[in-house]
Amino acid sequence: MGDTQFALQVQALKEDIQRHVAHTLGGDPYPPRKGRYFLGLCYSVRDRLVTKWLETQRSFYDTISKRVYYLSLEFLPGRFLMNYIQALGIEDVCREAVQSFGMDLDELVEEEWNPGLGNGGLGRLASCYMDSMATCCIPGYGYGILYDYGIFYQSIVNGYQQESADNWLRQDSPWVFRRGNFMYKIHFYGRSEVYYDSSGAERFRWVDTDTVMAMACDILIPGYRNDYVTNMRLWKAVSSREFDLSEFNEGDYIGAVESKVKSENISKVLYPNDHSPSGKELRLKQQYFFVAATFKDILRRYRKNNYASFENFPNQVAVQLNDTHPAIAIAELMRILVDEEMVAWHEAWKLCQKTFAYTNHTVLPEALEVWPVELLWRVLPRHMQIIFAINHFFLEEVRRWKPGRDDIVRAMSLIGEDGPQTVRMAHLAIVGSHTVNGVAKLHSDILKKRLFRNFHEFFPEKFTNVTNGITPRRWLDGCNPELSRLITSVIGPDWVRDLSLLEGLAAYADDPDFQQRWLTVKRQNKKRLARYVLRKLGMGINPASLFDVQVKRIHEYKRQLLNVLHVITLYNRIKVQDEEVHTPRIVFFGGKAAPGYFMAKLIIKLINSVAQVINADTAVGNSLKVVFLPNYCVSQAEIVIPAADLSEQISTAGMEASGTGNMKFALNGALTIGTLDGANIEIRDLVGHENFFLFGLTEEEVVQMRAQGYNPWAIYENDVELHKALDMIACGHFSPENKDLFRPIIDALLHNGDYYMVLADYRSYIQAQEAVSTAYRDTSRWARMSILNTARMGFFSSDRAIMEYASRIWNVDPIR
Ligand SMILES: *Cc1c(COP(=O)(O)O)cnc(C)c1O
Repeated sequence: MGDTQFALQVQALKEDIQRHVAHTLGGDPYPPRKGRYFLGLCYSVRDRLVTKWLETQRSFYDTISKRVYYLSLEFLPGRFLMNYIQALGIEDVCREAVQSFGMDLDELVEEEWNPGLGNGGLGRLASCYMDSMATCCIPGYGYGILYDYGIFYQSIVNGYQQESADNWLRQDSPWVFRRGNFMYKIHFYGRSEVYYDSSGAERFRWVDTDTVMAMACDILIPGYRNDYVTNMRLWKAVSSREFDLSEFNEGDYIGAVESKVKSENISKVLYPNDHSPSGKELRLKQQYFFVAATFKDILRRYRKNNYASFENFPNQVAVQLNDTHPAIAIAELMRILVDEEMVAWHEAWKLCQKTFAYTNHTVLPEALEVWPVELLWRVLPRHMQIIFAINHFFLEEVRRWKPGRDDIVRAMSLIGEDGPQTVRMAHLAIVGSHTVNGVAKLHSDILKKRLFRNFHEFFPEKFTNVTNGITPRRWLDGCNPELSRLITSVIGPDWVRDLSLLEGLAAYADDPDFQQRWLTVKRQNKKRLARYVLRKLGMGINPASLFDVQVKRIHEYKRQLLNVLHVITLYNRIKVQDEEVHTPRIVFFGGKAAPGYFMAKLIIKLINSVAQVINADTAVGNSLKVVFLPNYCVSQAEIVIPAADLSEQISTAGMEASGTGNMKFALNGALTIGTLDGANIEIRDLVGHENFFLFGLTEEEVVQMRAQGYNPWAIYENDVELHKALDMIACGHFSPENKDLFRPIIDALLHNGDYYMVLADYRSYIQAQEAVSTAYRDTSRWARMSILNTARMGFFSSDRAIMEYASRIWNVDPIR
């Protein structure tokens, strides 16, 4: 860009910002105010995207290409403004323009609220995939719900998690295009009625329903500097225009208004459970609401290009189910085809199976979604009938396949019969899809050999793996601008779109000058985090310490407890000056607990209680500090991850499907201490075993040990340091005001079988941590390991993952 062109762009942007402040917001541009100018900048950036968006949509219609629909009940996009600016390549223009108003771009972008429309990994994955679909020009859309209240805001009060509502739409978001003139009617309740058509064939229709309207709200998703812009379409529930006439006629005006308001509850709030379904009626209604609205949209678009026939449907439409949350879509498409489009059942079923693909995200048995049959009969009677019919035909085939094996028939049925009948959504998703994938190699293998063994035997060709990825735009270029600049200075800028180019860094791993620059960037990022901690918690920390970080949802399987036991062990060693050459550490924790998850909340309290004792102990000084960062979210991750030296990925082997946090850290040059779980295995294989701190049982050993009868008590009795750490928790050393406070944790570990094998992995973990401390003291060795981690992470780009989905699952090509 020439100087004059740059100056013209800055001038144009300045005028746009002030025009929006005055004419869009009705505010006085003088004197310049941060809040208004932030919004003025948002609208100005948005204008520039909209033009490209309309062009992209037109090119879809010109090519009539097959489209991908990524259905997800959660998206966790993080702030948009900087992401848009960087995608458009106008960062310098924006900096200059806002500087002329006396403002700083980095400060301005922090005005934006984080859209928390997801819980954690699953929602964040959906957002990385949106970014990659746009960057790779895959013709696709994300579909979900525009919740009024996203994931709750977490504060820590007296060491306990306190939740408060996240009313992120209180002020209208500049990014959401509400299409008030674009609504679909969605039905609930009522009954399925049989009738006979003109040829005398038996048919069904869904009647006497309640209706809710779904309003489309679009958020733009730009590709990286490629002029391609797609969108996520999020549905908002609004009451149907009409009041309930019966209530109205009975003179119950308030009752009629009340039902109107009630119907809007459907998109009110995100369920805050990660890895555990709530089983609530409202949640089921959310699932069907967004699926039904999405299919109205899909069919509208399909009909534009195709007329009477549905033969072509799977050649035009690929639907990806992000977990089982949208799996009711399978029954919905059958209902549309059979009841409304009069397609014969077996034809419709073939079309369905060619349309859907299902991504499984968990093997935790308690996380597999099931709905009571009784509830489905009430809320979606026709769908329940359809699911029974699907099951009938499916089990007929299973019986032919394994005659006389009622046990297998029962195990594979879509209907669970232990206790009150339930619908097993994963089974529905498997039989209704052409492809089922896990999210890392180990996870996909576990699906085949354990969780869905029968299904794998029955449909061997259906099962595959697509290892997760993360977008390098947000998770390196965006969140770590200093490192991005350093990388670009040696290998050029193309890595942002082709992450495999990072390999070029390996050549510099032993270069002392490059190592020094690498470590300087890390130090800058650690200082940035230290400022954040000072601002948020009023606590000063030393950036020369090893920054040891575990940020992710709090869950027993993720084993924050194992980390706490290490912290207490270090503490005890420092107290007796046993650790002659100690490596000063700051151990950071962050993460939300589901509000109803008692143990997870108690773990948060334990971390904070341990932190309080250690941080106040003058004998410890700067050797060890513990920090709990409240309200872990995407924006916090963007500060914490670039500052980490050590990434804690310590789940019980076999329990973390993939993890994506592990990838973000390694990409930013943190070294991993981890188990052979999820994508850790693939990360370790690629970065090199010598550049990864491995510990713990393998998945096979975990299964074996459980089968043989694992005895945590014996481990406790035989390990002096572990014994002491647990005793301190049990005796109230960290909770002097209530000595029994942490009793449930001790019970889980010592008396109730330690299901997550914390004690089994303790000693091996402590040893791996000793290796970490030793390695960190050798600065040059650490720098080399860190550089090699980043250099070898190219595979974990979500661009690679999306291109695998596109070619192996969706059968779509990039457009242009
Ligand atoms: C990446 C990410 C996660 C997932 O982290 P895991 O360590 O893979 O569980 C959760 N929450 C946020 C905000 C993230 O950015």
